Amino acid sequence: MAAPTRSIVDTRAEQMFPTLEPGEIERMRRFGELRRYGVGEMLARIGELSPGICVVLAGAIEVMRRDEADRPVPMVTHLPGAFMGELAVLSGRPALTDAIARKPAEVLVIPPERLRALLVAEAELGERIMRALILRRVALLETGAGGPVIVGRAANGDVLRLAGFLRRNGHPHLRLDPDTDAEARAMIDRFHVDPGELPIVVCPSGQMLRNPSEVALARCIGLMRPLDPDRVYDVAVIGAGPAGLATAVYAASEGLSVLVADCRSFGGQAGASARIENYLGFPTGITGMALMARAYNQAQKFGAEITIPVEAAALDIARDGGTARFTLRLGGEERVRARTVVIASGARYRRLNVENAAAFESTSLHFWASPLEAKLCGGQEVVLVGAGNSAGQATVYLASQAAKVWMLVRGPSLAAKMSRYLVDRIGGLANVEVLTRAEITGLEGRDGMLEAVRWRHDGAETRRPIRHVFNFIGADPNTDWLAGSGIALDKQGFIVTGGDKRVALETSQPGVFAIGDVRSGSVKRVAAAVGEGAQAVASVHACLAADET
Ligand SMILES: Cc1cc2nc3c(=O)[nH]c(=O)nc-3n(C[C@H](O)[C@H](O)[C@H](O)COP(=O)(O)OP(=O)(O)OC[C@H]3O[C@@H](n4cnc5c(N)ncnc54)[C@H](O)[C@@H]3O)c2cc1C
Repeated sequence: MAAPTRSIVDTRAEQMFPTLEPGEIERMRRFGELRRYGVGEMLARIGELSPGICVVLAGAIEVMRRDEADRPVPMVTHLPGAFMGELAVLSGRPALTDAIARKPAEVLVIPPERLRALLVAEAELGERIMRALILRRVALLETGAGGPVIVGRAANGDVLRLAGFLRRNGHPHLRLDPDTDAEARAMIDRFHVDPGELPIVVCPSGQMLRNPSEVALARCIGLMRPLDPDRVYDVAVIGAGPAGLATAVYAASEGLSVLVADCRSFGGQAGASARIENYLGFPTGITGMALMARAYNQAQKFGAEITIPVEAAALDIARDGGTARFTLRLGGEERVRARTVVIASGARYRRLNVENAAAFESTSLHFWASPLEAKLCGGQEVVLVGAGNSAGQATVYLASQAAKVWMLVRGPSLAAKMSRYLVDRIGGLANVEVLTRAEITGLEGRDGMLEAVRWRHDGAETRRPIRHVFNFIGADPNTDWLAGSGIALDKQGFIVTGGDKRVALETSQPGVFAIGDVRSGSVKRVAAAVGEGAQAVASVHACLAADET
C-alpha cells in the first residue's frame, strides 16, 4: 500500500509555528500596538483585510479555514509566544483564514508596513517569521483553503485558465467538478446556474462570478487593488519575470519607491519552467515557480508594490527641460506615474503554423509543462515540438509522467540549440523518441479537445491518437505596447539599449531602461535577466540623481 502523503503541517510544524522568546517579543513591541480581544471576538475574517500579524501575549487565538461546504475547520490554536498571520499580511491583502479569540486575549498587532520594517531590521528573527509566513501559505495551497472555489468540468479550458492563473500567482483555490462532486452540484443549485454557464467561481466573500476574466477574479479576491493616479513612483517596472523582480528587490531595498505591473503572473517564462538546473547556487535544481515565488516574496518584503494582472498598454513621455515624467497607461483605464521606467516585459511563445491550432490552446495545446498539464496527460502519448533548452527540460519532465514523448525537431539535430547535458539526458530516456526534420501537419479534434495529431517526417505522414501537444518553438518580444513611445527597436522588435550617450541598459529614451529577454542582444537566461535587473537599478539611481541636481 502506498504511504499516505504527508502534509507540510506534519513535516515542518516547528518552523510553521515557532514560539518566540520573551526577549524577541520585547524587541518586537516598537513595531506594533497592544490590543485586547474578548472571547468570541474575531481578529481576522476570510476575504477581509487583517490588521497584521498578531503576537499572542496572553489568551488563545484559534485559526480556522472553511471546507468546500463553507464549514469552519480548526487549523491551529496560537498560545502565548506564538503569532497569528500568513503571507497575505506582508502585502496587506485580504486574510485567507478566520481567527477568533477562544480565551480573553492580549496581542501585539504589527501592521503590514511595520512588519516589513521588522523583517528588514531583525535579520534572524525576521528570517524565522518570514519562513513561517511562507510555510503557512504552502499549507493553504495544499488544501486550497481560503481561496475561491472554481466549479466546472476538470478539462474545461476556462477552468484550466482560471486555475492556472491562481496557481501561477500562488493563491489557494479549490476546483470542484460537477461530474464527480456532490458539493459542486449543490453550489450549482444554490446559485441557480445553468450547466452551460460553467465555470463559475465562488469567492471567499460569497460573491459568485460567471466564467470571469482574470482581472475580475483578481479584483474579487483582493489580489488587485486600485492604483493611486497621483502618486509618482521613483521607478515603474513592467513585467514581473526574473528581470523585473530583480529590479524590484534591489530598488526597493535601496529605498526607492517601486511599482511592478504584470499582465499575467509573477515569474514570467522562468516561472513556467519545470526545473531550472543552471541557476547559480541551486546544485540540485529548483522549479521555476519556487525560485520566482521566493523573489516575489522578497520584493514585497522590501516594500515593492506588485500589481497583477495589469497590462501596460502605452508609455507617454513628457519632458520639461532635463526632467522627464513618465505615464504608463494600463489596461482598464488606470494610469501610473513614475520618474523612471524599467521595461522587463520579456518575450512570448510563437504559435504553431497549423490552421486550427488556436482552437486547442489551453485544453490540449500547451506552452509550458507544469504538474497541472502533466496530470492531464499522465500515462498517455504526447507530442512536444521544439529543440531549445526549454523544450529539453519539458521533455525530461514529461517523460517522467507520460507513457511516451514524441519530440518533433525541425532542424537536423537536437544539439544545435540545446545544452549538452539535456541532449545526453534525453538520449538516455527510453520513452522519448526524437524525430529530426519533422513538423506537425494537422491537428484533429472537437470542442477544443484534441483527438489526433499528424506530422511529416522523412517524407511520410504519420497520424497518431494523441490528446496533448506541447509547443516550445521560441518567442517574440513583448514590445507592441511601446508603439508611439519613440523607443528604438531592432528588426525583430527587441529594445535597443546602450550607445555612446547612454548609461548602461538605457533605451533611446533617457530615463527608460530595458532588461532581460525583451532587450536586443540579451542572453536568454534567468541569471542574465536577474543580473540586468540589478544593474538597471544603478542606472536608475544615476538618472534620479541627475534629475535632482
Ligand atoms: C519553459 C521555459 C524554461 C526555461 N528554463 C530556463 C532555465 O532552465 N535556465 C535559464 O537560465 N533560463 C530558462 N528559460 C529562459 C528564462 O526563463 C528567460 O530568459 C527569463 O524568464 C527572462 O526573464 P525576463 O524577466 O526578461 O522575461 P519574462 O520571463 O518573459 O517575463 C516577462 C514578464 O512580463 C510580462 N509582460 C509582458 N508584456 C507585458 C505588458 N504589456 N504589461 C505587463 N506585463 C507584461 C509577462 O507576463 C511576463 O511575466 C526558460 C524559459 C522557458 C519558457
